[in-house]
Amino acid sequence: MIPEPALDLPGFDPARAAAYRSAGLWGERSVGDELRASARRFPDRAALLAPGTRLTYRELDERTDAFAAGLLVAAGLRPGDRMMFSAGNVPETVVAYYGAVKAGVLPVCTLPQHGRREIGLLAAHTGARAHLVQADFPGQDLGALAADVGLEVVVALRGPIDGALGHDDLIAAGSTPDARAALDALRIDPDDVVAFQLSGGTTGLPKVAPRRHREYVHNAASWAGALGIGETSVVLHALPIMHNAGIVAAMQPAHLAGAAFVLAPTADAATIVATVRREGVTCIPLSPPAVVIRLLDHAAATGEDLRGVERMYVGGQKLPLEVAVRIEPELGVRCTQMFGMAEGMFLATPPDAPEWVRLHTVGAPVSPGDEVRVLEIGGDGEVPDGELGELACRGPYTIPGYYRAPAHNAATFTPDGFYRTGDLAVRHHVGGRAYYSIEGRIKDVINRGAEKIHAEEVEEIIVRHPDVHTAALVAMPDPVLGERACAFLILEPGAAPPTVAGIGEFLRGQGLAKYKWPERLEIVDELPLTSVGKVSKKELRERLARPTAGVGS
Ligand code: AMP
Repeated sequence: MIPEPALDLPGFDPARAAAYRSAGLWGERSVGDELRASARRFPDRAALLAPGTRLTYRELDERTDAFAAGLLVAAGLRPGDRMMFSAGNVPETVVAYYGAVKAGVLPVCTLPQHGRREIGLLAAHTGARAHLVQADFPGQDLGALAADVGLEVVVALRGPIDGALGHDDLIAAGSTPDARAALDALRIDPDDVVAFQLSGGTTGLPKVAPRRHREYVHNAASWAGALGIGETSVVLHALPIMHNAGIVAAMQPAHLAGAAFVLAPTADAATIVATVRREGVTCIPLSPPAVVIRLLDHAAATGEDLRGVERMYVGGQKLPLEVAVRIEPELGVRCTQMFGMAEGMFLATPPDAPEWVRLHTVGAPVSPGDEVRVLEIGGDGEVPDGELGELACRGPYTIPGYYRAPAHNAATFTPDGFYRTGDLAVRHHVGGRAYYSIEGRIKDVINRGAEKIHAEEVEEIIVRHPDVHTAALVAMPDPVLGERACAFLILEPGAAPPTVAGIGEFLRGQGLAKYKWPERLEIVDELPLTSVGKVSKKELRERLARPTAGVGS
């Protein structure tokens, strides 16, 4: 049981929790216990492969134990403490994640691209004591970020940072008999939180999804089952590893099953194809359409496809049909789709599903405990099959509420505990089974190559610019990324029109991650309003979709 500082969390309904236990969906092991169990079963198998690193299960288990013990005895962290993660796709991040989790220290899974604003606010919201940073993250001085944010304990990966404890120092300190005894004495309750994930599905500053050990284990096990991952699989992940999808759709499923987990530093097509060949990759659990488009371009230019990969799931963003139909003939892998989110539920199209299902839908839930409803927009009633509504879900790995957000929880969860995703969906019946297609969204989020931008968060900061009176951020179509952000601006009287670069510099100064900056500006005198007086984003999106220039005037 994790002692102080206690977390005040929305809980699972006790009757449902009991049902998940008695159905065997929830087990008794923590995430760290699962890694230990795999290390006992497959000590000499490859567990973690990355450029310059090859760790067996035994080595990964020992290293993460030492890191965990080091956090307790050398960094002075206690179980239940929160640690911000600003680190990219390097093996040390994986070691640090499992090390934290084994010590009961809760990773707050932010991205290395997140700036002073995001890290500062999220650290305050979660009460974080520690900040883990990658010293050599390309193009970003994360040591300076840690100094700016100023948390009590700083841990540095891959290089020294003033005042920080190094990864190797922690491992050395955690390797003594006393340190190991401190770790061995620790019991992690599988009901405790394992990590905080950032929601891609709400308005304003991202909400924080508390994920618990036993539901995270079930999430990973269900997904491993849907993907057919086993001990001989070689699983590749090339997107940010500390995203929920990286952890629960790729890394943990691989490690639960005893598979080799391959971490690629970036998701560019040449790196992915070279890694697939070098390591004999059999499974790519998540490729957003933007990555698939780059892989198709790469295959057309070089003749290098993904032959040999048995499963690749496309998701994170709507897959255009014209891209879907090219996957099998041009990349040599079957088109299968997935839908997932930091809040929990995953859907996937089974590889043997009819072609229409694989091309047009994101499939069916991956756990027998998942319950899905398609709700009337703005209501709690369900719409009939074949009709558009809001996708809602609850189940053994869907959070029952966000952390410290009671008003938002009241609006986002139905009275009987279904999470309203903000996504528009249709339920289809094919061959006696229900499948879901995603047809848009009602939440005010821009999906830039599967990276989510909360319009309200950015608007709130742009209006601090001295020349800007009002801002509305909307999605503009992009052939590769799917969407990019465009800001419609009403200027202060007499102000000169700002440039995209100027607004970007301003937002950098405000500590906002670059992927959220608008990539186009439209200066307008007024914004269109809906019948209830809100800015009509629909009308603005339609203006951007028109092929005519000068949409802003
Ligand atoms: P995140 O929490 O960042 O993983 O984002 C989850 C959100 O991504 C969902 O609520 C959807 O809006 C979007 N999403 C994920 N997968 C898909 C998909 N296959 N098609 C359309 N949108 C998706």
